[in-house]
Amino acid sequence: ESVEKKQSLVERDRQNVWHHISPYSEKNPPMVIKEGKGSWITDEQGNRYLDGMSGLWCVNVGYGREELAQAAYEQIKKIAYIPMTQSHEPAIKLAEKLNEMLDDDYMIFYSNSGSDANEVAFKIARQYHQQNGDPNRYKVISRYRAYHGSSMGALSATGQALRKYKYEPLTSGFLHVSPPDNYRKPEGISIEEYNIQRAEEIEQTIIWEQKETVAAVIMEPVITGGGILIPHPVYVEKVQEICNKHGVLLIIDEVICGFGRTGKAFGHKHFNIKPDIITMAKGLTSAYLPLSVTAVRKDIYESFKSGEENSHFRHVNTFGGNPAACALALKNIEIMEEEGLFDRSAQLGDRLLQELDELRTHPYVGDVRGVGLMVGIELVEDKISKEPASKERIGTIIAACKDNGLIVGKNGDTVAGYNNILTLSPPLSSTDDDIDFMI
Ligand code: PLP
Repeated sequence: ESVEKKQSLVERDRQNVWHHISPYSEKNPPMVIKEGKGSWITDEQGNRYLDGMSGLWCVNVGYGREELAQAAYEQIKKIAYIPMTQSHEPAIKLAEKLNEMLDDDYMIFYSNSGSDANEVAFKIARQYHQQNGDPNRYKVISRYRAYHGSSMGALSATGQALRKYKYEPLTSGFLHVSPPDNYRKPEGISIEEYNIQRAEEIEQTIIWEQKETVAAVIMEPVITGGGILIPHPVYVEKVQEICNKHGVLLIIDEVICGFGRTGKAFGHKHFNIKPDIITMAKGLTSAYLPLSVTAVRKDIYESFKSGEENSHFRHVNTFGGNPAACALALKNIEIMEEEGLFDRSAQLGDRLLQELDELRTHPYVGDVRGVGLMVGIELVEDKISKEPASKERIGTIIAACKDNGLIVGKNGDTVAGYNNILTLSPPLSSTDDDIDFMI
């Protein structure tokens, strides 16, 4: 107790807590946050910030929802834990609900995080091909600049080199192609044509790798952490067509794009596609508790039911499908539906984008783009050469936002040379005043 009195929380944190991804800084220690309500969080000194990133793009319904606490509490009182080797009502109801949102074609496998959900997707893809007369299909094609998680397999799928640096070798069999980056497309070619070319790069890779060795393509509907790269619909639809043509499974990572972030229930609903596997996390519980899902087409699941020795999916995780997390996820989705938050995301996002468009006249703003309640502002030193803004300039802007009570994100990819995209991804429940404040 005497230690508690003498030292501030920041100091105690400094001595004991190892923080995620942030370099150690004596001058700028992590904020210690004590509470949140709606889109706002308060640190232990009483400073308030509008959380323009919803944590890590995840607190979709905003902070301080009593009903979510209540849903978890009631479930924990009834029964706190059942392994998913068995089942329980919240897991069943949530699977039914997700299927209703996905048009009823999927089996729902529960895990804890987005990384977990992607690991499960890769294992299922490999095993599926093994059990379907294609035992040599193990490779996964992803895109540079994409982020798919931090565990060895999910990190292998990730296309940002600095995240892997000093942790390699990772899992073999993961390949990367260029993403569509419409702001930086070559001159003299339409956006549509450029996007077709990017999709064709996937087909070329499948062919050159020998298609009999390729298990899956993984992609986000919109690259988020890599800097809000919004494809032309022709890209996503063509990738689906290419996957179908070559017997390659299409895994869609909805970890950020799902649950309204893009203005629809799922990001892939903007396109005319039917993914084979869909991974979800973050907004599934609005991050109030950890939970993730790998949704797998029922016809893929068929081959895991044959009853042959070891043909079932031999994967388990202790916490996946935790009853309180499932009960809370159901309540979270109910809130989103009752408050019309998917539509609200689309409307608020449109307004934010329209008003921020004015920034294009600013000498350091190269591009302003977004879909749903997710906006990227690409900062450059020079609008003609599109040279990315310096680290110092971006740091100054982020600090100025924070001094004025707004938390913004910075995304892109350092090694690619484009870690220059300011991002806004506030709770979908943000008020009109919150949006005004950000603008
Ligand atoms: N996929 C995407 C698109 C993500 O943005 C993230 C996390 O930011 C992940 C997967 C990994 O999720 P988690 O951090 O829950 O493991």
